[in-house]
Amino acid sequence: MGGEDVKVPIELSFMEAVQGCSKTITFQTDLPCTACGGSGVPPGTKPETCRRCKGSGVSISQTGPFTLQTTCPACKGTGKIVSSFCKSCKGNRVLRGPKTVKVDIMPGVDTDETLKVYGSGGADPEGNRPGDLYVVLKVREDPVFRREGSDIHVDAVLSITQAILGGTIQVPTLTGDVVVKVRAGTQPGQKVVLKKKGIKGRNSFSFGDQFVHFNVSIPT
Ligand SMILES: [Zn+2]
Ligand SMILES: [Zn+2]
Repeated sequence: MGGEDVKVPIELSFMEAVQGCSKTITFQTDLPCTACGGSGVPPGTKPETCRRCKGSGVSISQTGPFTLQTTCPACKGTGKIVSSFCKSCKGNRVLRGPKTVKVDIMPGVDTDETLKVYGSGGADPEGNRPGDLYVVLKVREDPVFRREGSDIHVDAVLSITQAILGGTIQVPTLTGDVVVKVRAGTQPGQKVVLKKKGIKGRNSFSFGDQFVHFNVSIPT
């Protein structure tokens, strides 16, 4: 069975998703009961031997010439009976409570991706395998950069003079502003490509491109 799997949504800024980050998240799940140390019984309690099966865990019945062995229903095969339970967890060995986990998020993640963090979910009442944590990412939009896979899009507004005569304009990129040449006679809607100025693909060594879309501001 193992512990409970937990799904937690978190929000990242555009840059946190592009560059990677580490997030500390807190969520409700099963924690080992500290009052009883996960045993389910008050400290010092000794389980008694099951009287029905005398500790063997099996109940034997005789039907004619056949001997039938079944799991003892009184102790469920454990051979032990516990008469008092831990007051905190009522014998469940785990308790609901807040758990805090630090999650490292790799660069290049995108919205709606789910990261699996093995073993960071709820505690296993049996003490064996804890559940897994699933972090569902929501990436906030950026006022400047738009993203399309590993490509980045930005808008750049030219004055009429810049559009007609050409010149240069400063454009933001993920790694800082760069100066971009504007060709004479640039029309609204034209774009230039800044090669490899996009986002590094998570499963590749190459970067996406940045597209600069020109607009021309018309004086009114
Ligand atoms: Zn028994
Ligand atoms: Zn307990």
